[in-house]
Amino acid sequence: MLEEKIRNIKNQIVKSIERVKNSKELSDLKARSIGRKSDFNKIMKDLKNLSIEDRRNIGKLANVAKSEIVKIFEKAAREIKTKSFDHEAEKIDVTVPGNKIKRGHLHLITQTQNEVEDIFALMGFEIAEGLEIETDFYNFDSLNIPKDHPSRDMMDTFRIKNKEDILLRTHVSATQVRYMEKNNPPFRVIMPGRVFRNEATDVSHEHTFYQMDGMMAGEDVSASNYYSIIDEFLKRFFGKDIKTRMRPSFFPFTEPSFEIDFQCLICKGKGCSVCSGTGWIEIIPGGMINQHVFVSAGYPRNKYQGFAFDIGITRLAMMKHKIDDIRLFQSGDLRFIKQF
Ligand SMILES: [Zn+2]
Repeated sequence: MLEEKIRNIKNQIVKSIERVKNSKELSDLKARSIGRKSDFNKIMKDLKNLSIEDRRNIGKLANVAKSEIVKIFEKAAREIKTKSFDHEAEKIDVTVPGNKIKRGHLHLITQTQNEVEDIFALMGFEIAEGLEIETDFYNFDSLNIPKDHPSRDMMDTFRIKNKEDILLRTHVSATQVRYMEKNNPPFRVIMPGRVFRNEATDVSHEHTFYQMDGMMAGEDVSASNYYSIIDEFLKRFFGKDIKTRMRPSFFPFTEPSFEIDFQCLICKGKGCSVCSGTGWIEIIPGGMINQHVFVSAGYPRNKYQGFAFDIGITRLAMMKHKIDDIRLFQSGDLRFIKQF
């Protein structure tokens, strides 16, 4: 009789377990089936009232049945766990914030170059591209810098071994005559690009940096046109309040040459360490294009006049954003790059 009862309980559990939907229902069923108040537990308790022989036989049977039942529950628990896991994976909660994809942005140099290009484009300048690998002629000779000229020494040059005529351009001015060979005045053009110097690096020197040359030429372009264009550019770039001045200077490719300065933004002209106590910062060298340069490009001497200037894009970015080490720009350090 008891043997049959035990078998029935086990069969009942096997049937009931198939209908169980979740772990809560499973643990309830387990409590009802083999828990303290279960019929099965009552049988175990009643064993003590049996004869020794029955107690041994039925007890053995009951223990085997119980361990089988425990295994059935363990198996069911594993299945429920797997099913509920799959169920969770299929669920889409549209309110959970998505994983934000990390995006980069334009480098400060590119941003500055774009800004400068936009200002000049509004003043009617077109943009021309040059070559980073140049010849001695375009980088030096065409700009009135012959072989023995002292300013060659100021621009330490990367050269190709066994090809002394080939070099990495030391300034974007190398594009000036290339442009003039294909175009005739009147023109207004800017020539942005990367330049290279073979020199030791420190807070204000880098082997690679960015410049932008500009030229405006025609039959009646004057030095006052030069000053007004640059003054307008600096006001648009740094803000209306900026004060500028033009003073004489010397460069081989311009005659006469001028340096345009702006009043120091830090001390407002009183003098500080940034402006070396002068109150002014040299920013744009240039002047009236030397007739030798026009002749290099194949123009007749004294037919045209115009001005050329050079803007240090990297330097402008340093001034505007108060960056005191030029080497940061190409360090690849994201902590620096992400600030702009
Ligand atoms: Zn200052």
